[in-house]
Amino acid sequence: MSINGNKIELPTSIVIRDLAQKIEKSPIELIKKLMSNGVMATINQAVDFDTAAIVMAEYGFEAVPEVVEEVKIEVGEVPLWRQLIAGEDQLLLKNRPPVVTILGHVDHGKTSLLDAIRQTDVAAGEAGGITQHIGAYQVEMKGRQITFLDTPGHAAFTQMRARGAQGADIVILVVAADDGVMPQTREAIAHAKAARVPIMVALNKIDKSNANPDRVKQQLAELELVPDEWGGNTMVIPVSAKLKQGIDDLLEGILLVADNTEIKANPNGKVIGTVIEAEVDRTKGVMATLLVQNGTLEFGDIVVAGTAHGKLRALSDYKGKPVRKASPSTPVAVMGLSDVPSAGDLFEVVDSEREARTIVAERAEAAKTQAQAKKKVSLEDLFASVQAGEAKELNLIVKADVQGSLDPIVSELNKLGEGEIGIKILYSETGNIGENDVMLASASNAIIIGFNVQADVSARRLAEKEGVDIRLYEIIYRMTEDIEKALSGMLEPEVKEKIIGRAQVLQVFSASKFGKVAGCRVTDGELRRNAKVRLYRGTDLIFEGDMGSLRHEKDDVKEVKQGYECGVGFKNFSDIQPGDQLICYILETS
Ligand code: GDP
Repeated sequence: MSINGNKIELPTSIVIRDLAQKIEKSPIELIKKLMSNGVMATINQAVDFDTAAIVMAEYGFEAVPEVVEEVKIEVGEVPLWRQLIAGEDQLLLKNRPPVVTILGHVDHGKTSLLDAIRQTDVAAGEAGGITQHIGAYQVEMKGRQITFLDTPGHAAFTQMRARGAQGADIVILVVAADDGVMPQTREAIAHAKAARVPIMVALNKIDKSNANPDRVKQQLAELELVPDEWGGNTMVIPVSAKLKQGIDDLLEGILLVADNTEIKANPNGKVIGTVIEAEVDRTKGVMATLLVQNGTLEFGDIVVAGTAHGKLRALSDYKGKPVRKASPSTPVAVMGLSDVPSAGDLFEVVDSEREARTIVAERAEAAKTQAQAKKKVSLEDLFASVQAGEAKELNLIVKADVQGSLDPIVSELNKLGEGEIGIKILYSETGNIGENDVMLASASNAIIIGFNVQADVSARRLAEKEGVDIRLYEIIYRMTEDIEKALSGMLEPEVKEKIIGRAQVLQVFSASKFGKVAGCRVTDGELRRNAKVRLYRGTDLIFEGDMGSLRHEKDDVKEVKQGYECGVGFKNFSDIQPGDQLICYILETS
């Protein structure tokens, strides 16, 4: 809640319903109040900050401008494939289908929308539906193809976050009409902008009774995505993924945006593209989905993808139908790679196996050096990073085989995190450790804890590349023991003050060498030359710091015990008077 005393944070404009909620009044009452101020507004309409502030003031609240946390993303470099296409002879460039990716806040309907779009594809219907999931598919609209990247769940999102929207020409931002702009919506916008990819909005869930399209449009406008119907240049298309409404409008909209964007490639140029997905299939070996972005990929081509290479033994389209070649913007599932590349890796066709091996060897070497340099958080490293003041919290991602084991693990870990160094469990889930987990761990400097689970090959590879620590356990106490050790190692040594002696100043001498010197008697414990001192006059603290000298008779000494007299000089301090009390203490770490 943004209430701080009687202050309430407000955006630049706010819908009456939301304003009412913020000040805990009924919307009707608020509407009446506005009317009495000469402002007519319905419950779903927005008022600007100043109007809201006036009305709020009548209820004793002060409106303060909302601080919107800016999602900062650096504008990435132009992806290599785009650079390559830019370098092609312009006369050889041909239009290619737009590649579209769907982003948005969790639960706003990305998966449902991808499914709804896929089901409109008549051709796929005739072929008995798509049985194979290859991470991308194509649909036809008005005789033109559109390629959708269909990386399931939040994979597409984290991937985009980690690497920018390299593969896409258009981003469809899904915003639920009943929920509006949410944090991941803002993040998605920032990423699309960073990748310089045009955004269009699918205003989803318009079938819901509490859908409020105008409110969402208002929010979008505030984020510089001004709807075209309001004179802006962002296409906002109302859809219902659930009822499959508005899908054709959306597809037509994509074609319009595509027509306003340079979406071209040279089908006969250098073959280059992006790895969409890859995994090991027990019978087929490494299966990878590649999105061709320039040139035409063909059966028998020698491909280098990340640190994997191989001669393509089979190509099939998104329906699983064998094909011999794939032109720009076409996704294909391929067999024949030696190894599992990571999603997002660039691939290219090279002339010979030898060339492929050389490139891969060089990349592997570079990756190793990079991983070493980038080494993020490992349990072993934590102590060092805490000492350097870099980490005060241990971020964990926890994966376990079943919910039954997840719960006790999480509660054990939370208990361990009650000390000085906290434990933050970013999320805990059942299932094997996948690339997503590693990507999130890398983005948030977390360690992945696996309990009775495995890490996928691709996840291990990515973890190596990103310097993410994956720890697998089968026994709970082994895991807690490890974490405990790391945490105790991490704990900053607690510094405690220990008083070792007291003395009373009897006289003050002037010694040319030391300035003023206090002639003291040690009343308690001992004074030590390299300990710290405090000088009190009555209850006033006069000086705190280091001793400059400690002498017994004429000798410099290291310590003087109770009952003895001594001369004490202070570093950079000479305002000493007889009767002052001296306390000598040391700092101890526990
Ligand atoms: P994602 O997390 O963005 O992929 O969202 P999902 O596609 O999993 O959808 C989240 C929830 O919203 C699911 O329960 C869907 O059934 C529901 N949903 C998605 N689209 C619509 C829609 O157009 N209307 C309604 N009423 N519900 C929807």
